[in-house]
Amino acid sequence: MEKLAIDGGKPVRSKPLPPPFRGSMLIGEEEIDSISKVLAAQSPFRYYGPDMQYAVKALEDMIARDLNIPYVLGVSSCTAGLIVAMKALGIGYGDKVIVPANTFIATAGAVVSSNAVPVYVDMDETLNLNPDDLERVYDDEVKAIIVVHINGSPCDMDKIMAFAKKRNIYVIEDVAQSQGCTYKGRICGTIGDIGVFSFQMNKMLTAGEGGAVITSNPDLFERAVRYHDQGMFRDKERFQIEPQYIMSGQNYRMSELTGAVMIEQWKKLNTVIGTMRKHHRKIRSFIAAEMPNVKFRAAVDDDGDTGCVLGIVHSTLERAQEYAAAMKAENVSTHAMYDGIPCYMIPCFFEQRTAEKDNFPYNYPFKNPVVYTKDMCPKCDDLLGRITITLISPILSDEEADEIAIAAVKVLKALEAKQSAKAHG
Ligand SMILES: *Cc1c(COP(=O)(O)O)cnc(C)c1O
Repeated sequence: MEKLAIDGGKPVRSKPLPPPFRGSMLIGEEEIDSISKVLAAQSPFRYYGPDMQYAVKALEDMIARDLNIPYVLGVSSCTAGLIVAMKALGIGYGDKVIVPANTFIATAGAVVSSNAVPVYVDMDETLNLNPDDLERVYDDEVKAIIVVHINGSPCDMDKIMAFAKKRNIYVIEDVAQSQGCTYKGRICGTIGDIGVFSFQMNKMLTAGEGGAVITSNPDLFERAVRYHDQGMFRDKERFQIEPQYIMSGQNYRMSELTGAVMIEQWKKLNTVIGTMRKHHRKIRSFIAAEMPNVKFRAAVDDDGDTGCVLGIVHSTLERAQEYAAAMKAENVSTHAMYDGIPCYMIPCFFEQRTAEKDNFPYNYPFKNPVVYTKDMCPKCDDLLGRITITLISPILSDEEADEIAIAAVKVLKALEAKQSAKAHG
């Protein structure tokens, strides 16, 4: 048995893996040229300027064409996009929105910023929401579900859409972490009423910040455009929509600088996903061949997974923590998602605190009061810390991908041996 690096043995890798960022690692001459054109034209604003380059418009058209969806709106972030989506759907004070127990802080935060209150649905071994738990959290004050395709793997959309239809509520897809992920061949973001993307640094494609809102519904689109642009709808001609909604809005517009970078990033999506998928599959089959009992993160549609993380389900929290620490010592950074903390346990949510007077919007007199308890999503509470993830960079070499697999097998075998030594006294 090889001695683990954490016990003083030789690490599988002599230095850490390449940075785990995705699109940003592929930023090159194309992005530099594209953004330079906008700057040279002195026209960084999307709606007017001395020499318009229409970068955001070109990005929107490109996404619309590739996703085969009629309406795409560039926005300043995914968080902004989620708020825009909820305002498009007319969600606000007095409404509840179902969000997954396992998600990034922004999903629930956007609900609160839309003046609605999040209620949390449990997860399962896919790390995604468990559709069989939706009925438990539903009541007639719930107006929508935000489904989050966590870390590249799609949610069980058939079940979720059937539930939403039965209860007559909306579905927003938060695709921040999973650009390009598919469910039964359909592109995530195009299945629910509205899809939202993120172009922040940590995501598949990036301009540092940015996002997009997509929909097939012209009414929702007009409302989204208005909310994102101070209540205005400037592109009447382009979309051939006869505007009909009057509302006040915000400024969640995308800058031309972001648009220019994103045009080039968007073209690289297949390269990013292609590399990650190839490595992900190879790493998993290497581990599975050596350790047939290893439990990988489950999936409802493995073919649709972008391959951005290697997820392993461990038997106990302790085991998962030992694995992560040992992998780190082998120079293969590995951790639990969100430190194993469900979204609802983040103090601002758990304690229902906001920047507003009387903790608006939590102060709404709901017929069925919103109460959060530590054990309300027991699967998430139990599983989140037991699933470790190793990020798969889009610039990994074949050798580096092999080293991830070799390190995983080395550590898993050593931990198994330790455990059976313990068991046999
Ligand atoms: C990153 C992230 C967001 C927020 O994206 P921003 O563009 O940074 O606002 C929202 N939801 C999920 C699931 C995320 O991972």
